[in-house]
Amino acid sequence: MLQQTRAQTVIPYYEAFLARFPDPISLARAPATEALAAWSGLGYYSRVRNLQAAGKRIVALGRFPDNYEAIRNLPGVGDYTAAAVASISFDLPYAVLDGNVLRVLARIANDAGDIASLATRKRFQQLACDLLDKKRPDIFNQAIMELGATVCLPRSPLCLLCPVAKLCEARQNGAQEKLPVKLRKSVTQEAVVDLVLIENGSLLLLKRRASDSRRLAGFWELPELSEIPSLKSIKPIGTVRHSIVNHRYEFRIYAAKLAGRKALPGFQWIDRDDMSRVPVSSVVKKALRAATTNLR
Ligand code: SF4
Repeated sequence: MLQQTRAQTVIPYYEAFLARFPDPISLARAPATEALAAWSGLGYYSRVRNLQAAGKRIVALGRFPDNYEAIRNLPGVGDYTAAAVASISFDLPYAVLDGNVLRVLARIANDAGDIASLATRKRFQQLACDLLDKKRPDIFNQAIMELGATVCLPRSPLCLLCPVAKLCEARQNGAQEKLPVKLRKSVTQEAVVDLVLIENGSLLLLKRRASDSRRLAGFWELPELSEIPSLKSIKPIGTVRHSIVNHRYEFRIYAAKLAGRKALPGFQWIDRDDMSRVPVSSVVKKALRAATTNLR
C-alpha cells in the first residue's frame, strides 16, 4: 500500500483491509471484486491484484516462503520488497534500496552518478550490500531507511543531528544539498475528460471497465458524456482532478437525466448503498461529493 502512497493516506485503508482480510487464506478465497472494493480509493490497483495472486500462491505453498528467491517470485514483489521482507522477517542478509536509501548512500559516498541510471543503481546496491550489518540486517535496513526519511532529508538535511555525519563525504565536501543527482525527468501527460452523473433515486448509472483495460480494469466508473446520446437537463457541477502515475486528469462532471428509456448495453444501475461492496473508481466518489456540495 505504501508504494506511491503516503503513510497518512494508507493507515485507514490498511486497518480496514487487514480487518477484512487478516491472512492469505481469506484474501485468496475472496472474489477479486471484493479485494478491489477494499482497495477502492487507494489507486494503483495492480497492487491489490498482485497481493491477491500472492495470497493464492502462499496458500498453494502451504506457508509463507522463507528464502529471498521464493519471496522475490511472489507476484508484485520486486527487489526492494523481497530484501525488506527477507531481512526484517527472516534475518537474511539482503540490503534494501529505496529512494531514501539511495539518497543517504549518494551523500555518504559523495557519488554524483545519475540515480535514474541502471549502472548507478547497481553501484549503490553493491555499496548497500558492502555496508550491511550481516548479523543484524533487519535493524540496519530499518535504520538506513529511517535515516533517509527523518534526518537525511531531500532538502536541508539535518546533518548536525546525523549519527553518521563523520562518515559522510558529501557533508565533508559541502555537497549534500546537490545530491543525489537525477537527470531523467518523467513527462506528465494531461487530459480533460467530460463525465456524466445520472441518478435515479438512490441508483447511479455506471459502466464497468473491461478486464483487459490498461486503466482501472474491472472498476465501475461514470460514463463519458459522449457515450450516452440521449441526455437532457445537462448542467455542469464541478471539476475533479486525479493523477495516476504520469497522467494528470481533469474530469469535468455534469449532471443529466436520461431522455429515453432505451437500453444502454454495458451500463448498469448501481445502488449507492452497494458501493462499498463493488469496486468503484475514486473519481465516482469525488464526483458524488462535488454533486452533494454543488447541487443540494
Ligand atoms: S551528514 Fe547530512 S548528508 Fe550526510 S548522511 Fe547525514 S544527514 Fe545525510
